[in-house]
Amino acid sequence: MAGSEMTSRPSEGPGELHRGKSVLAARVQKGASGTPATEALGGRTLPKGSAADIAASTPATATSPQAASVPSGEERVGGGFRRWLYDLLRQTPSWLVSTVLHAVMLLILALITLPPAPSDELRQLVVAPGEEEPVEMLETLDEPLEEINVEVTEAVFESTAPREMDVSPMDQMEAAAVSVQLSDFGLEHAPRSDVLGQIGAFSGNAFEGRGAGKARLLAEAGGTEGSEQAVARALEWLAAHQFPDGSWSFNHQLAPNCRGQCGNPGELADARVGATALALLPFLGAGQTHRQGKYRQQVQAGLYYLVNRMKVGAEGGSLFEPGGNMYSHGLAAIALTEAYAMTRDKGLYGPAQQALNFICYAQDPVGGGWRYQPRQPGDTSVVGWQLMALKSGHMAYLRVPPITIQRASRFLDSVQANDGANYGYTDPGSGPGTTAIGLLCRMYLGWPKDHPALERGVRWLAERGPSKTDMYYNYYATQVLRHMEGDLWRKWNGEIRDWLVNTQVREGHERGSWWVNGGHQTDKGGRLYVTCMATMILEVYYRHMPIYRKQSIEAAFPLD
Ligand SMILES: [Zn+2]
Repeated sequence: MAGSEMTSRPSEGPGELHRGKSVLAARVQKGASGTPATEALGGRTLPKGSAADIAASTPATATSPQAASVPSGEERVGGGFRRWLYDLLRQTPSWLVSTVLHAVMLLILALITLPPAPSDELRQLVVAPGEEEPVEMLETLDEPLEEINVEVTEAVFESTAPREMDVSPMDQMEAAAVSVQLSDFGLEHAPRSDVLGQIGAFSGNAFEGRGAGKARLLAEAGGTEGSEQAVARALEWLAAHQFPDGSWSFNHQLAPNCRGQCGNPGELADARVGATALALLPFLGAGQTHRQGKYRQQVQAGLYYLVNRMKVGAEGGSLFEPGGNMYSHGLAAIALTEAYAMTRDKGLYGPAQQALNFICYAQDPVGGGWRYQPRQPGDTSVVGWQLMALKSGHMAYLRVPPITIQRASRFLDSVQANDGANYGYTDPGSGPGTTAIGLLCRMYLGWPKDHPALERGVRWLAERGPSKTDMYYNYYATQVLRHMEGDLWRKWNGEIRDWLVNTQVREGHERGSWWVNGGHQTDKGGRLYVTCMATMILEVYYRHMPIYRKQSIEAAFPLD
């Protein structure tokens, strides 16, 4: 199944070849349009007597065979060969001589143009890494996109009231990203490997559920009118707690509309990027983008906030923030890549790709994981968000180096227990949350539905059932069960759906939000965090197409 998908995507080799060819074609054309040969070859001067000289002198010989008959001092030196050639020319029809000589000329010209001039530009395009030199590969990957001029957007942003939406920030972002060569770059560099081929099996259509197919999927997968109403109320609550600059805060009480009316603010008030990204995801999950839906302005302002907070450097576009570390970056990368995948807004291409580049940079080069700080030995929780971002990016045909995915796989190997049915945090273990994350990652990385460890892990989760306090576990475990489908999923879904619909606040300013007392974790993110996670759980019917469904490959892609 993966194989057929892989053949439908251009492989790395032909992409590279194509680039080489077009450069070659350009050279040939240039030469043909009257440019001196030296210029057509990049200004290199050919030595006297080289192929170019021969090519230049040949036509005279070819068009006037009589010239060969004119005796000269040199003829004696040539001796027998000249004589033989002379005889031959006399006996051969002139059209044949002309044909042969033209053919020789063409061959010589081909020899001149074929050897590619050494060019660093060509080398930068190589994405597939040699196993031995992964670090160098990451460096070259970062280079082509360095030119993004984020400062342009900053300047524009400062002079624009973000709520005045007749100005289009996305258009400004587009302008800022123009320096990046868009063209078919993303397509040519779409990652491809055995591992990612599995993800590719539902690429392009993975967000279909958010568009035209939403109602059908909702009904099929076990969503209800009640669950959809809960999602709608949640989006209203989120929109009401957005800040004027387009951001959200885990301390939602600071939002001008709220002014402390809703309880349970989170402690991570400084993690504005993380809060903004997390709040955007339920909108995107419901099919609301800056181009479509009733929350276009809110989504646009939020995306704009993220793009403006991005710091672009040699290591990619960082949305890392001290208050929210790599969690914030991973979440923001998911929001940017999903928004780009759903709208194909060119203005988001650069920021989305840069965010992925930074994830690649921040990966622990040894263990393959991610943690709070770039390049630290990883933990399963942070790994989950980064992998989801890479997966979304892959589906949007952004560049994701296969080696990054392979290393992430190695990280999962290092924390798995029970032969891969359970997962720990930084070491082998079997915590419920880390197990759910690990299994979902394994699904995205290509484990088949009937993989014994996956089956055991899914049963283990199903036996535990949904948690009444741990929304993080619920979020991941629900996705795992949803992808597996079947009876285990139906039972799980009935429980969690009804519990969430029944526990959503219906009154006052808190209407549309959720709160569960989940200890340490929920104290940090507060009501905003719990509400976002709960909403995304109720969007599970259509937020991502099930990985193992054939029709997710064949259905049309309506988001354009
Ligand atoms: Zn409020």
